[in-house]
Amino acid sequence: MAGVIEELHYWPRVVALPTNTSQDCVNIRSPYGEELYSLNVSTEGDVTTAVQAARVAQRTWATRSLRERAKVILAFHDLVLANKSELLDLIQWETGKPRRDANEELLDVTLNARYYARHLGALKDRRHSGAFPLLISAIERHVPLGVVGIIAPWNYPLTLAVSDALPALLAGNGVVLKPDPLTSVTALYVIDLLYQAGLPRELFGVVIGDGAQLGTPLINQVDFLMFTGSTKVGRIVAAQCGERLIGSALELGGKNAMIIRADADIEKAAEIATRACFGNTGQLCISIERLYVHDSIEQEFLNAFIRRTRAMTYQGSVGWGGSYGPLISPVHAARVMAFITDAREKGATVHAGGELSGDATIAPTILTGVAENMNVCREETFGPVVSVSSYSSDAQAIELANDSEYGLNASVISRDKKRALSIAKQLKAGTVNINEGYATAWSTLGSPMGGFGASGLGRRHGLAGIVQYTESQTIATQNALGFGPPFGLSDEKWGNLLTTSLGLMKRIGWR
Ligand code: NAD
Repeated sequence: MAGVIEELHYWPRVVALPTNTSQDCVNIRSPYGEELYSLNVSTEGDVTTAVQAARVAQRTWATRSLRERAKVILAFHDLVLANKSELLDLIQWETGKPRRDANEELLDVTLNARYYARHLGALKDRRHSGAFPLLISAIERHVPLGVVGIIAPWNYPLTLAVSDALPALLAGNGVVLKPDPLTSVTALYVIDLLYQAGLPRELFGVVIGDGAQLGTPLINQVDFLMFTGSTKVGRIVAAQCGERLIGSALELGGKNAMIIRADADIEKAAEIATRACFGNTGQLCISIERLYVHDSIEQEFLNAFIRRTRAMTYQGSVGWGGSYGPLISPVHAARVMAFITDAREKGATVHAGGELSGDATIAPTILTGVAENMNVCREETFGPVVSVSSYSSDAQAIELANDSEYGLNASVISRDKKRALSIAKQLKAGTVNINEGYATAWSTLGSPMGGFGASGLGRRHGLAGIVQYTESQTIATQNALGFGPPFGLSDEKWGNLLTTSLGLMKRIGWR
């Protein structure tokens, strides 16, 4: 370990990796240009050690009451806020994102901690009456799965390292996380806060390294996989989970559309669109990559949107200020530039941005004239690039927005909330925001979030986001009689009695 992170004294508080027998290292360079650190990478053996340790620790953890588990998570909530400056610094060093985007991660983690620690009702045993009241009584239980594997990408290194883990832990599970190697220290730091809050260390293991190498041994040993990343890798890990018959939740890519109706306040719409398209420098699964604007306001909107986009400021160091930063790496920047170059060469017009500066900086880019033969038309760029097109009717806007294999997030901007709601209900997307881009639905933790189609399977947030980390178990007790004929009745008479009783129950309104 050397460099900036050591100077900031982060490392000594970070937990040691499970065994780290390997001498291989990953060298991490900040998108700002500094050499940050080199980390030992984990081996397949480390994955086994971490899963086994979590499995042993989970048995004790599962015996602790919901209230005790919640106490740890609420203490963690306070530690996150108490350490907010260090966390924000780390996120910025590792990702190069503006501090306001880093701050969204902090908000997300604390919201998740409070929401799930205070919404554990779904995990409590629930009574059910059996087919015949009094004769049968039943309880539904939610049993922890065991050890949950989490594989996370680099774009939200704090949120995606821990927010999905919180409900898994509260449900009584152990966790083994494999963050993206580029952003591992943020993950290690925040998980150390969980230990400080009272979480047993062995219960939450972290392995560092390449996904293709560590993913398979992890999936082969855990009881559930929470994967966030690209659709391409999502298909690979889903097949592996299917082979083992373990559950998985897959939060994948998007090509998200925003519809701006003719009645929209144009300046407001341009302000919302600027944040929705270029938040986190476009490296956000739920950010908007396709804007559909009613043709009666297209030019006026475009003028306002271009003006606001060109006024965005670059932030190339840790601290507040600036509305976009460098992309995560030169490799990713080259990938995003290839979309822009391809579109430009095939006739698209670039109204803002569109150039690479330095190693990895692309200013927020607006394209018009995007056509079907351009890669940017349907593929996720995962960068600060948006295409603007026009439409002439609500029906056409809905058709255009839905014309994608993805279905993660969408947005409708309109003064007519009733009409906007009607459009929202016709969009094929897991979340739809009215008069915002993504934050409104994302921050509504009580309601599930996830994707239709190629954007994924399963949901995070809401009760679905915690129940998925359990097996449902039904324990039913036969209190009297039985399912066989009593008192020497023939099968026929007993069968008739049962069906007559069912008819009677319906007539008296029994549920
Ligand atoms: P990625 O799929 O390349 O990598 C994600 C994670 O998977 C990393 O930890 C990586 O090491 C690991 N991985 C890679 N190959 C693997 C394999 N064969 N087996 C197991 N694990 C493997 O994605 P990325 O480029 O890092 O992230 C960007 C993608 O993530 C975008 O498509 C974005 O839309 C998506 N994303 C989705 C959400 C969501 O909530 N839907 C959130 C953030 C990012």
